Amino acid sequence: MTEGNPAPTEVAPPGVNINVPHSARIYDYWLGGKDNFAVDRAVGEAMIQAIPGMRYMAGENRKFVHRVARDLVAKEGIRQFLDIGTGIPTRPNLHEIAQQIAPETRVVYVDNDPIVLVHARALMISHPSGRSEYIAADIRHPVSILEHQALRDTLDLTKPVGLTLIAILMLLADADDPWGKVEALRDALPSGSCLAITHPTADFNPDEVNAAVAAATGAGMTLVARTREAVTRFFGDWELLEPGVVPVSGWRPDDPVDDPEAAYYWSGVARKP
Ligand code: SAH
Repeated sequence: MTEGNPAPTEVAPPGVNINVPHSARIYDYWLGGKDNFAVDRAVGEAMIQAIPGMRYMAGENRKFVHRVARDLVAKEGIRQFLDIGTGIPTRPNLHEIAQQIAPETRVVYVDNDPIVLVHARALMISHPSGRSEYIAADIRHPVSILEHQALRDTLDLTKPVGLTLIAILMLLADADDPWGKVEALRDALPSGSCLAITHPTADFNPDEVNAAVAAATGAGMTLVARTREAVTRFFGDWELLEPGVVPVSGWRPDDPVDDPEAAYYWSGVARKP
């Protein structure tokens, strides 16, 4: 080795660009995962500087996933899920929670990040009675998801589906018309289907959240905090389940929460009439 060489660089799996920060890897960093690179840790740390409770927020967001998967299976009778913006697998994954209650549950995961693809197939092993599938696709093209063969082979779109859009819609600019994309997904699902959303907001602590958004956008990412009204519009004319659109820690908490607004996400679940 020549003296003065730079420190050994991290090796990226094929298709993974380690020169630009990616949301899946930043989120993995906050959750204590290992699938992140220097560029992701730099932006992730800058965002923690802005929002000291960022890791807490990520954890509260994951706990919402667990409560929603449980309630949609146990209380709403959902046996198939479409989870878009899955992220790097984090145990327990949605299908693991759902299949603990109903092993026959089927889950289709969708993400557009190549690093998620690298891990998803290996890690998302289904209960033998159910099924879990992974599709590499982009929510900005709902048809590419809805007409994907793996989705058609796994989900029965004549029966209710739990559509989970957890911490993904903030990665779409208004110009991408996220409301139109979500409407296209809602329209493809039958009565009795449920939609669960979490979305970061500047409503509770504008200074911290605006500083974090500035750190992310300064690094070239798209990140949009949205108001309660803008988040509520994603549900269209579906009926919000109790307790409506609330801070993520306050959606049917397992234990009493001191300050629900300490995690800066709106959350809600609605059912198609
Ligand atoms: N839903 C998970 C992970 C959230 S991180 C959770 O809340 O725990 C956001 C994820 O959305 C990342 O994995 C990112 O790759 C994915 N994502 C971002 N833009 C996307 C797009 N246009 N289409 C599909 N997935 C997208």
